[in-house]
Amino acid sequence: MAHDFSTLIDNCKKWNITLTEEQIKQFDQYYELLVEWNSFMNLTAITEFDEVCQKHFLDSLSIVKAYPDHYFEKNTFQFIDIGTGAGFPSIPIKIVFPNLKFTLVDSLNKRIKFLNEVIDHLQLSECIAVHGRAEDLAKNSSYREQYDFCVSRAVANLSTLCEYCMPYVKVGGKFVSYKSEKITEEAVNAEHAISVLGGKFERQVEFTLPDSDIYRNIYIISKDKVTPKKYPRKAGLPSKEPL
Ligand code: SAM
Repeated sequence: MAHDFSTLIDNCKKWNITLTEEQIKQFDQYYELLVEWNSFMNLTAITEFDEVCQKHFLDSLSIVKAYPDHYFEKNTFQFIDIGTGAGFPSIPIKIVFPNLKFTLVDSLNKRIKFLNEVIDHLQLSECIAVHGRAEDLAKNSSYREQYDFCVSRAVANLSTLCEYCMPYVKVGGKFVSYKSEKITEEAVNAEHAISVLGGKFERQVEFTLPDSDIYRNIYIISKDKVTPKKYPRKAGLPSKEPL
């Protein structure tokens, strides 16, 4: 192993995640590919090993703060990650919970090429990368309302994000938004969007990443009703004119 994973291993243990040798190897391969591809395309501003482990790998796994007690180990949920970029949060979650099924979506095709390389190299099964805008793909019945969980990190404000994400969630499923700041005002501004899209605020889980004062907030919206067909509006509108 080229890198020292002891801090990631210890920090994962604090969240009740025990990484296997195979999973550590996959994180190592992922890190290598990330740095290699980042030298000729823009994937991430964070490249230093310990920082990638903390701010990308561990941060992506922080969904377990909201769903503890090995919740994801026992299930075969369908996940979709909107605006996944270089694969965050979905690839780290898939490595740790290989039983989960993932669709990774991004509007930049070069990032999809990178993700296909990662999926291939790490031999991730039931994990596909799809090129498209969230607003367009949601009109396709193969994706619309097909997912138990939609996750998204660092893509847009909550109102815009709800319009991108809620159409993919099955009634009874959840939209899990990763936020890095307190979102009191953002959450108030998103109340209308959440309700017209068929959702209901469920809870938020606030914490700091282990051994740091890096604040994080997992914001969960449950889907109670079918999203009206007119949403999402045409590409560009959800961000230009949030609901
Ligand atoms: N989620 C990743 C992370 O946390 O590192 C990437 C965050 S990056 C700041 C935002 C990503 O969202 C970019 O890769 C961008 O191409 C993608 N994106 C932005 N708007 C989108 C849209 N409407 N549909 C699909 N992807 C979108």
